[in-house]
Amino acid sequence: MSETYDVVLIGGGVMSATLGTFLQQLQPEWKIAVFERLGQVAAESSNAWNNAGTGHSALCELNYMPDPTDPAKALAINEQFQQSRQFWSSLVDQGILDAPSTFINATPHMTFVRGAKNVAYLKRRYQTLRKQALFDTIEFSTDSRVINTWAPLLMDKRLKVDEPFAATRVTGGTDVDFGSLTRQLISAMTDRGAHLLLDTEVRDLTRLADGTWRVDYRRRIGRAPGRVNARFVFVGAGGWAIKLLQRSGIPEIKGFGVFPIGGQWLKTSDPEIVARHKAKVYSQAAIGAPPMSVPHLDTRVVDGESSLLFGPFATFSPKFLKNGSLWDIVSQVRFHNIGSMLKVGATNLDLVKYLVTELLKTRGKKVDSLREFMPTAQDDDWELLDAGQRAQVMKGGKLQFGTEVVSAADGSIAGLLGASPGASTAVSIMLGLLKKSFPDRSAEWEPKLAELIPTYGQTLNRDAAQAHRVLARTASELDINA
Ligand SMILES: Cc1cc2nc3c(=O)[nH]c(=O)nc-3n(C[C@H](O)[C@H](O)[C@H](O)COP(=O)(O)OP(=O)(O)OC[C@H]3O[C@@H](n4cnc5c(N)ncnc54)[C@H](O)[C@@H]3O)c2cc1C
Repeated sequence: MSETYDVVLIGGGVMSATLGTFLQQLQPEWKIAVFERLGQVAAESSNAWNNAGTGHSALCELNYMPDPTDPAKALAINEQFQQSRQFWSSLVDQGILDAPSTFINATPHMTFVRGAKNVAYLKRRYQTLRKQALFDTIEFSTDSRVINTWAPLLMDKRLKVDEPFAATRVTGGTDVDFGSLTRQLISAMTDRGAHLLLDTEVRDLTRLADGTWRVDYRRRIGRAPGRVNARFVFVGAGGWAIKLLQRSGIPEIKGFGVFPIGGQWLKTSDPEIVARHKAKVYSQAAIGAPPMSVPHLDTRVVDGESSLLFGPFATFSPKFLKNGSLWDIVSQVRFHNIGSMLKVGATNLDLVKYLVTELLKTRGKKVDSLREFMPTAQDDDWELLDAGQRAQVMKGGKLQFGTEVVSAADGSIAGLLGASPGASTAVSIMLGLLKKSFPDRSAEWEPKLAELIPTYGQTLNRDAAQAHRVLARTASELDINA
């Protein structure tokens, strides 16, 4: 007889960790199992070195505001991150998360642009954002002396260059170690009774006559097969979510495909260089570049150690996970998605051109790109690291850069496709998923959700006084005061 779980979470990344934590808060008696194919959790995209650790809140990322007069998307992302901050703060309070500095650190978010057109755009964006309560501490400058005090590495040896430049800064930005966050959440889940099965790969999902799911798995060591039953399945398998959702046979996955984009970073731990830069500095995308591949020069704090990362540089691999299979890209092809995928190939020539250019970039050329940010960068100070794989959603002949929750009509299974804005908005994504997958429980769960996220269901930016209060409270609770 197979064991029956109320909830099976496939994948030990930040998404499963966030959903599992919510469910333990809401239904502590539910029996939960987490399946992870690798020997540890948080070893794919959620690992600190596989992502950039930006607490995405649109303070510095220009892709959320292509039109400098329209703050709607930037506001939405920021509101989502405020939910994450409040949730994490409640979990610190409960002792589920350790000291905030183990997973989140204050890091100013800056944008730096060059050229008259880009300077005009940034100024306009600043004028729009400073009127919004969630962004009203934003600063703008074209003065090299001011920018030099914000991020001296940007200005060293740039002073002689006769080219206009400008920067914005919000001191209340953050760097997040999503790997540490994930490990802590899953460890607290197992302390509270969840079963974690490492080295265990879910191979198949079958809907049973009573509406529950049979989950077939295989142990990686010894390859012994096994199965459990689940009333609800979350496919939090990152890049492999598409494969499992296709195996489940739910009609909702029809038409979807994913396109893998890999990445690389330049990293330095040289204490003298690291000491001179404390910010995440984003800029503008090259033509054809996917929005999340815009290189940025970032302070990272991982395991208490600071370093600087520059990137990501896009790479190509047919794998959907760093530890995926070379067959991933072809194994997803179905009659129902091939047309859409071919159309994406034919209509994204700029992206193809961009990827080819990036692939041809030698290590030296990558350091040249870094020198556009940091003119004094020396090749020997920087090492090249592989970042995580992103599996971007293809649907209706279009390549999308967001995330998409795909769930069955009866709510018994849901999975997450796509990569951006990703981990920062895991809380908001999971709140949406809870509503969609458990509509009958929404009303019953609301008081607990409001306890965990005091402004649950509210739009902070509408009320400046409240927005400032919440920002100040979570900054103090998470010890990220600017
Ligand atoms: C280069 C890069 C930069 C990024 N930068 C940022 C950033 O700055 N800020 C931000 O918020 N987000 C960022 N992201 C996005 C963020 O990392 C992801 O959105 C997030 O980590 C996804 O979490 P996940 O749990 O869905 O997937 P993952 O962390 O990939 O976890 C999926 C897990 O499922 C396991 N798995 C897969 N298949 C199976 C199976 N069949 N059985 C059992 N286990 C399975 C995998 O081994 C893996 O552990 C970035 C991503 C990349 C790649």
